[in-house]
Amino acid sequence: MKKQISLKWKIGRYLLAFGVFIIAVMFIFQIGLLEPMYEQSKINTVKLVSDAIVNALDDDMDEDDLEDLVFENQVKNDTCIRYFRTEEGHTSDSYDMHYMNGCLLYRMRPEEINENIANAYASQDKTYLGISDEDLGIPISEKNFRNIIYTRILQDDDETSIVMVYTGISSVGAALQTLRKQMLYIGIILIFGVILLTLLLYKQIAKPLLSINEKAKSLPEGKYDPDPQTNRYREAQELNETLVKAAGDIQKADKAKRDLIANVSHDLRTPLTMISGYGEMMIDLPEEKTDENIQVIIDESKRLTNLVNDLLDLSKMQENKIVLNEEDFDLTELIRNQLRKYDVYQYRDGFVIEENLPEAVTVHADRKRIEQVINNFITNAINYSLDDKHIIVAENIRDDSVKVSIQDFGQGIAKENINDIWDRYYKVDKTHVRASSGSGIGLAIVKEILDLHHAKYGVESQPGKGSTFWFSLPIKK
Ligand code: ADP
Repeated sequence: MKKQISLKWKIGRYLLAFGVFIIAVMFIFQIGLLEPMYEQSKINTVKLVSDAIVNALDDDMDEDDLEDLVFENQVKNDTCIRYFRTEEGHTSDSYDMHYMNGCLLYRMRPEEINENIANAYASQDKTYLGISDEDLGIPISEKNFRNIIYTRILQDDDETSIVMVYTGISSVGAALQTLRKQMLYIGIILIFGVILLTLLLYKQIAKPLLSINEKAKSLPEGKYDPDPQTNRYREAQELNETLVKAAGDIQKADKAKRDLIANVSHDLRTPLTMISGYGEMMIDLPEEKTDENIQVIIDESKRLTNLVNDLLDLSKMQENKIVLNEEDFDLTELIRNQLRKYDVYQYRDGFVIEENLPEAVTVHADRKRIEQVINNFITNAINYSLDDKHIIVAENIRDDSVKVSIQDFGQGIAKENINDIWDRYYKVDKTHVRASSGSGIGLAIVKEILDLHHAKYGVESQPGKGSTFWFSLPIKK
């Protein structure tokens, strides 16, 4: 696998890219767009001011208020306002009415004023925006290097108003100089910031990961002992928890595997010893060649076959190689037929197997597999019954499903073991003597089968009082 670069460099690269991006954005806005944005805002101002004056003229505002409005707009918006009004053939000029503090529009040559007005007349919307870099002849202030004159004409039937608004754009050169210097400082600060932040993030994020990685190397041995220092953020904490759990699982699986080998070897050896022992005995002592002794050999061979089949079955199921062969069948009939197999336990060992079954219940499932589940539950009930040899096999119908339960009154299962019994190879008590074969894989097979059927299943148990194993299947109407 290609080696990735370290988190430190990765963080550093992203942060640096971010810093460069921020500087670039600032550069574009401050240096590149400053002038055009400034000019646009000035243009907007002259238009707004001219609107205000035009409206006032249109509304025939009285002379004093108009003067106030003009004055206020000149001062507040740094503009110069001049207007003309023609009423019934008589033209008035704001020049004659107000003292205009000598602003540019009152000092421009009449030809220039007229040119702007003529341009406005010529345009479709009767406005004209004149922007010029040239000195308009009468410098009002040296700092302005660009002039904006907005001329707007409003014509009614008998009345014409012309409003001119001027504003100057002062040079932004000096401001730019300062900004450039600022950008340089900001750049330097940003680079330091990036380095600092990278180191900080590295310490906070990457260091715990490195430590966790180091500790996780002992995971294959089922060991993981997290350093509490690494729990600096939730993800690291969760990773630690996951690894602790994984280590526990590995340990458990390891132990289970060892247990299985021990169990299976033991369970293989017992019948094999019996088979070879009986075989040898029958050769040595011809009078022992009885049907009963031959039956023992046959029974023990069957036990071996069953065990090997179980192991093969489980491994196939765990590799998802089992396909269910589903069909409709009567579950009650199937249970009744299976129970006949256990008659021998009733008359030989004194078991009482009580049947609590309704008439007929049709389900859609894999008949052979469900048979396996029921046999497993009954065999376990017999195996773990101890002295109280009473077993109840019942079917309960609720709504659209049937719940099958097998209850015994034997040794029961302790609370701490109850979740583990469905695990492969798990046995609560490794030393008990069984009435029938088993290697701790029966319930693992049951679980796989019921999971494949998407069936609900479970166990209720109390140590010393007994257990009830159950599963439920949908009823086929
Ligand atoms: P085993 O071959 O050991 O019976 P199973 O997978 O069938 O394997 O069962 C796993 C374990 O669950 C058993 O070893 C036993 O400890 C416990 N167990 C299963 N059924 C019962 C039961 N009816 N009563 C008490 N314990 C049970």
